[in-house]
Amino acid sequence: MKIFNTLTRRKEEFVPLEPGKVKMYVCGPTVYNFIHIGNARPMLVFDTVRRYFEYKGYQVNYVSNFTDVDDKIIKKAIEEGVDSEVISSRYIEECKKDMGGMNVKPATTHPQATLEIDGMLKMIQILIEKGHAYAAQDGTVYFRTSSFQDYGKLSHKNLDELQSGFREIKVTGEEGKEAPSDFVLWKPKKEGEPYWDSPWCQGRPGWHIECSVMAKKYLGEQIDIHAGGEDLIFPHHENEIAQSEAANGKPFATYWMHNAFLNIDTNGHVQKMSKSLGNFFTVREISERYDLQVLRFFMLSAHYRSPLNFSAELMEASKNGLERILTAADRLRDARKAALEREKGNVDAALAAKSAKTVRTAEEQNHIGTAKELSAKYEAAMEDDFNTADAIAAVFELVKLCNSTVSGDSSLTYIDFMKELLERLCDVLGIVTERKEDILDDEIEVMIQARQQARKAKNFALADEIRGKLLDMGIVLEDTREGVKWKKA
Ligand code: AMP
Ligand code: ZN
Repeated sequence: MKIFNTLTRRKEEFVPLEPGKVKMYVCGPTVYNFIHIGNARPMLVFDTVRRYFEYKGYQVNYVSNFTDVDDKIIKKAIEEGVDSEVISSRYIEECKKDMGGMNVKPATTHPQATLEIDGMLKMIQILIEKGHAYAAQDGTVYFRTSSFQDYGKLSHKNLDELQSGFREIKVTGEEGKEAPSDFVLWKPKKEGEPYWDSPWCQGRPGWHIECSVMAKKYLGEQIDIHAGGEDLIFPHHENEIAQSEAANGKPFATYWMHNAFLNIDTNGHVQKMSKSLGNFFTVREISERYDLQVLRFFMLSAHYRSPLNFSAELMEASKNGLERILTAADRLRDARKAALEREKGNVDAALAAKSAKTVRTAEEQNHIGTAKELSAKYEAAMEDDFNTADAIAAVFELVKLCNSTVSGDSSLTYIDFMKELLERLCDVLGIVTERKEDILDDEIEVMIQARQQARKAKNFALADEIRGKLLDMGIVLEDTREGVKWKKA
């Protein structure tokens, strides 16, 4: 498997630190508002990377943080007259809802910066002891960039150039810095801001130290993949490397992956979608017009390192493309039902068993061969730095093959092969091939079973509660001699 590594600017063969395992850290959002679809791009891209590793049999430890202490959160809290924590926990919940809607798997751990302050104090202390950091008069602690030989290695910047560049931009309040490129690890509190005690001053951590500490706590000192949007290369990831490698004395991440921007064209200006430019759509807004699967499919239709322009036309095209796949999956399910009926009606049990196990015709064997080639093509695309655009092209070819060769007359083995393959390849992309209504039906069945069990256990209150919940969903139950039947009210 090949991954483009920002550190070396080359595609490199993936070699895990520990065989069969992937340790992955993805920088998460700052939670002061609903996430926009630009923020959704790294979520969708790296969730797909994770899914592909899992498909290949790797055990993935996936950590993605929420930055819950930040100027923007504090500003919003002041505007609303509430604590910062009210704002951050509200938008963490909303973000998780959006992630659920986009079928992004929950991370193995979703750490929050404010719950990891102790670890940050420890790492800052170590950096000071090793001479990589210093406290200024006012209690601000800075990282001493000149002490870290490799500073600039990720963004391919030269420290001398950086120093002169920074000298141009004088920031007030940073007079205690030894050098312009030094960055904040800890800063003193301002009136009305959340703060923690520290040996240097009452204050709060800088943004970069959060990720170095959370990655170390949940994944260890060395990790396989560190990822985020390309705007994080400098300074955020450069600074994370400096902090982690200076403190731990080991290389931090083997592979650095960065997605390109989601852009939007406003009056002929193509610009990065961002909160500050005000040219964004939230995931929530998109969910009012489209199933979020369409958004997911749209994002994966481009390679993650290519800029992608958001437009209504492209969303419509994605909607149609996705529909083609879902319709093929519907047809496979219908064909399966018909084949099952046929097999059931087959009086010769031995023949039925035989036909269920073996592929009926040589023609079907041929098609299975073609399908396997398409599956290999899909894998080759994903192995080439996660080329989801080409992987989707292989899925479309498979859809075409299914549509032209599967019917109710096909053997059950053949139908199942094609159905499982299509579902599996879609699942790696996070696309659910079952229609929402079908999923709902399954959910109803599970609830009915739970009600039956409650009745058996004579827990009539619970049974009634479940009946009530179903009623809220518009489902009416009927207890008949053959069991419980349900219908939509
Ligand atoms: P933020 O909340 O601004 O820290 O962003 C969270 C994540 O979203 C980071 O990985 C950013 O790089 C990424 N991101 C923000 N805007 C965009 C965009 N327009 N396109 C792609 N990624 C973005
Ligand atoms: Zn980070």
